Amino acid sequence: MKLFTAVYHEPGIFNYPLGRKLKKDFADLPWHEIKSHNRIEEMTQRPNSDFPKMKRFLIIGTRKTHRYTENHKISDYLVPFTSSGCTAMCLYCYLVCNYNKCAYLRLFVNREDMMERLIKNSKKGAVPQTFEIGSNSDLVLENMITNNLEWVIPAFAREGRGQITFPTKFASVKPLLGLDHQGKSIFRMSVNPQEIIDHIELGTSPLHQRIQAVNDMCEAGYPVGILIAPIILNDGWKEKYMNLIDQLADGLTEKAKKSITIEMIFMTYSFVQNAINKEAFPEAPDLYDNQSMSGGGRGKYRYRKELRLEAEPVLTDYVRLRLPEARLVYVC
Ligand code: SF4
Repeated sequence: MKLFTAVYHEPGIFNYPLGRKLKKDFADLPWHEIKSHNRIEEMTQRPNSDFPKMKRFLIIGTRKTHRYTENHKISDYLVPFTSSGCTAMCLYCYLVCNYNKCAYLRLFVNREDMMERLIKNSKKGAVPQTFEIGSNSDLVLENMITNNLEWVIPAFAREGRGQITFPTKFASVKPLLGLDHQGKSIFRMSVNPQEIIDHIELGTSPLHQRIQAVNDMCEAGYPVGILIAPIILNDGWKEKYMNLIDQLADGLTEKAKKSITIEMIFMTYSFVQNAINKEAFPEAPDLYDNQSMSGGGRGKYRYRKELRLEAEPVLTDYVRLRLPEARLVYVC
């Protein structure tokens, strides 16, 4: 099955080499001109039940806003980069909170502008910084379409200061293994129990392939990390997540286990996601449970404090037991 069924593009994209390349690569699809990738009238008017169909549209434009946001977790800044949205359909995807049902993949062809800014910003400041370039999309998935990472990683290694980092749920890392990265790109894999991948992280890579990808990237010399995220506290969570941690301990190489960082993030869910999922995936598991979740403001739901207080020590203690050399960076 083809990944995309149609392309929607801003008129100016053909002024960029990537825009012209994409035109050739997807010449067999219908192309529709749009004024701006930000608001496509035809999309906003579609019903929520069209969400899976809309995920098969490819939107191409240029990025106009480039404001870096300070971040205090694994990186120092979140960088608006070469794409937003994604073709996968994780039922909790936070991008749906930002883009609603328009969380389809948007590619921004002015990558040279973004790269120039990134290199320039990396040289500011008294000490080297870490820049999160994949907070708005999945760059490993995007790389399958644009090859952007294959260009960004060596370019940052050559000219950038500090490090760049990106998380993914995709295992297609083969094109990245031979790149000259100089240890300046941190690869982070997001994992969940296979049962959750099957029913909730629709369209992403299976767990065993994700673990293999971490091993391969580590072997290729990249700094690597694992995100156990988002942790979903539905029925049987204790067994499911302890089993996942066992699978990591058994499946990661000794080298990876010695050097990985671990981030653990509990799921937040929202009214918007719930409304779309109910209509777009009526058969899917319901992620909202009013017994275990409460409102955290602005239509967001979080797990109740008592449940968090029960789950957090169980899972962090087990991570420390099974992956004693890994560095647990934060739990949130
Ligand atoms: Fe969202 Fe990431 Fe899932 Fe894509 S892979 S749908 S960006 S959570």
